[in-house]
Amino acid sequence: MRRYIGVTNDNSTPNEWHNCTVVERRNLTNDLAVFRVSPDGDLFDFRAGQYAVIGLPTSAPRLESANFDDDEIPVKNKLIRRAYSIASSSKTNDYVELYITLVRSGELTPRLWLLRANDRLWLGSNAKGHFTMDEVPTDFHVVLIGTGTGLAPYISMIREHHRCNLGRGFIVIHGARHVGELGYRDELELLDRDCSTLSYIPTVSRPDPQDNWSGHVGRVQSVFADGTIEAALGEPLSPTNTHVFISGNPEMVEDIQEAPPLERQRLGARQD
Ligand SMILES: Cc1cc2nc3c(=O)[nH]c(=O)nc-3n(C[C@H](O)[C@H](O)[C@H](O)COP(=O)(O)OP(=O)(O)OC[C@H]3O[C@@H](n4cnc5c(N)ncnc54)[C@H](O)[C@@H]3O)c2cc1C
Repeated sequence: MRRYIGVTNDNSTPNEWHNCTVVERRNLTNDLAVFRVSPDGDLFDFRAGQYAVIGLPTSAPRLESANFDDDEIPVKNKLIRRAYSIASSSKTNDYVELYITLVRSGELTPRLWLLRANDRLWLGSNAKGHFTMDEVPTDFHVVLIGTGTGLAPYISMIREHHRCNLGRGFIVIHGARHVGELGYRDELELLDRDCSTLSYIPTVSRPDPQDNWSGHVGRVQSVFADGTIEAALGEPLSPTNTHVFISGNPEMVEDIQEAPPLERQRLGARQD
């Protein structure tokens, strides 16, 4: 893995690379965090399921524990930009919420990990992506299947489109390795408890004994295959009444796509 660093003789950081502020940061684990970032001016319009692009200069400090196999490569200071699905509702118009996992060998995330509230970074001027509910008929059930931070676009969709008193069902299947990695669990459990129209089905592949996990164990593929979704919906899955979104681990996405035929939204934003 190459490591880019800014060099002192060409290390200036243009002002426009710092056009937004971290207004909140919440750590779930050492490697998983929710960031809220607010632009200096108005926030762009977006639709639930779209993604934002954020960035930091190569000269920004990075987490010391990041892994590198090769030597550092000094480069002209440049902006490292990466896409992140927006987890907030588009009705929240002063910040975007991002659910991010640290890639220790990565370029941007080890730098992001040093940011705290009030720190500055770069936010792109618009949201992108077609992984939205635009094409989903309003009376269709929605099955949201995700692993890891693949949950992020669904949180935006739920916050924006789900209503407890509307007939359409939302089924959320979230897979993680450990119980502590089930981001947004409290919010989703509350909705599951209070709303008959939302079912939250977390599944953990490697539960730790001390977590006393009594939920599903295994991959999301097994939940998809074992009839749990139909039981939650109260009717068979059908392309005429249900829309399935899939986001996250590529192997899981492949497996689910090969499962019984449904009208699927194929990956959308993650393929942009
Ligand atoms: C449309 C879109 C939406 C995205 N939404 C999110 C999101 O909501 N949350 C989020 O955390 N990430 C999301 N990503 C991934 C994100 O853009 C970055 O790729 C990721 O944060 C790694 O960036 P980096 O610069 O630290 O690592 P890089 O330097 O880009 O990558 C280093 C290496 O790590 C690999 N890698 C990238 N992501 C992961 C990962 N998650 N686990 C293990 N290895 C990885 C890369 O393939 C590469 O080999 C999204 C990507 C796209 C295209």
